[in-house]
Amino acid sequence: MEAETKRSYSEKDQDYLWHGMKPYQANGTPLIAESGKGSWFTDTAGKRYFDGVSGLWCLNLGHGQEEIIEAAANQMKSLAYFPLSFGHKPAIDLAEKLSELLGGGYRSFFANGGSDANETAFKIARQHHKQSGNPEKTKIISRYRAYHGNSLGALAATAQANRKIKYDVNVPGFVHIPPPYAYRSSFGSYEEDDLRAAEYLEQTILWEGAETVAAFIMEPIISGGGVIHPQSDIYYKKVREICTRYNVLLILDEVVSGFGRTGKVFGYMHGDGFFPDIITLAKGLTAGYLPLGATCVHESIYQSFKTNGTTNHFRHISTYGGHPASCAVALKTIEIIERDQLVNRVARLEQTILRKLHALTSYSFVGDVRGIGFLYGIELVKDKQTKEPLSDETIKTIVAACQKKGLIIGKNGDTVPSGGNVLIIAPPLTSTEDDLTFLVKTLNEVFSETD
Ligand code: PLP
Repeated sequence: MEAETKRSYSEKDQDYLWHGMKPYQANGTPLIAESGKGSWFTDTAGKRYFDGVSGLWCLNLGHGQEEIIEAAANQMKSLAYFPLSFGHKPAIDLAEKLSELLGGGYRSFFANGGSDANETAFKIARQHHKQSGNPEKTKIISRYRAYHGNSLGALAATAQANRKIKYDVNVPGFVHIPPPYAYRSSFGSYEEDDLRAAEYLEQTILWEGAETVAAFIMEPIISGGGVIHPQSDIYYKKVREICTRYNVLLILDEVVSGFGRTGKVFGYMHGDGFFPDIITLAKGLTAGYLPLGATCVHESIYQSFKTNGTTNHFRHISTYGGHPASCAVALKTIEIIERDQLVNRVARLEQTILRKLHALTSYSFVGDVRGIGFLYGIELVKDKQTKEPLSDETIKTIVAACQKKGLIIGKNGDTVPSGGNVLIIAPPLTSTEDDLTFLVKTLNEVFSETD
């Protein structure tokens, strides 16, 4: 026992902890965090790092937000737990606040996180159609490159082959279509990519049979799949029209893009007249301080759950979904975002950062720099003409070199065909201008060593 306590955390990590998304490394030296302040954290060796991806795009207000910590503690002192088959004050207050942020008319079902919120959305969509006289409307359409979560339904909607290959996720009723992706247009036209991608949704609904399609799920801006977004709001406009035309519920996965990440309260607000039938939220909802997900549903859909006495209610719950402390943390998080005008701050700083990041295209291997708000993707290629992806090995070397210099950045999940060649940057919304200067300076240093 005594010998055990003398072992370093690196050694113990090697023996006991199973890391997500990382290959086993026999002699790996994992980064083990010990404490954090603002957008920076310190590892067990005392080295400081700027967190350029906000943890997993969730730590939007950085570490050490005393008011949030206090809100969690106070809630735990007054009511530690209560299930949402009944109610509690923080869940009711949060549901009211979310409806207000969404422009009114939304009802929230609380979950544990993003995957759970999306699973919930699929079940709501299917049940809604079943009890509204459309029992065959069960299919869910989603987009290639999207990530919607790790549980079976959410993974079935996820369309990144390498995340699914070993798990037999052959769930019937999930159909994928290409997203608009001007840099690698599936439709052969940079200019018309948005329009063609939207038309492809309509074509797919018709091919599948509109009477069989329950919902279309999309992130307004694909995040983990490589920061992919339309060039204009024509895509959003068309998608909304098509979903309404065919009675296909539009589920917007704003697990990453919500709460100011893109310079608007929600990502969908970048589209004129764009709105969700169902929106799923997590991550930034609690700024990463506690787990929480929300599935917010328009009242017009909730109607079908109110009718027929007891037979149409939603037979779904999870023990910790809408935990009182998580809801209290979410309310405080939203209060801080509003009070400190963080959404405007992100929108104001976006152009400055993007301009500096765009300058990185002068390096021979930087094919595309794109993004919005505090969410950026840098697509790395061997050859700017052919757009052949830079090798995985070189990209991993770049990420590791940044880490060595105290900068944490991400890389999109392994995707086919481009093999995870997009560096992902999503700093906390509270990052100082000095922090952001450090980010760009470090990228420049590492890129010039690589070129
Ligand atoms: N949806 C999107 C867009 C995500 O990026 C993620 C996670 O990264 C999820 C859903 C799943 O969320 P969680 O990990 O909280 O289950």
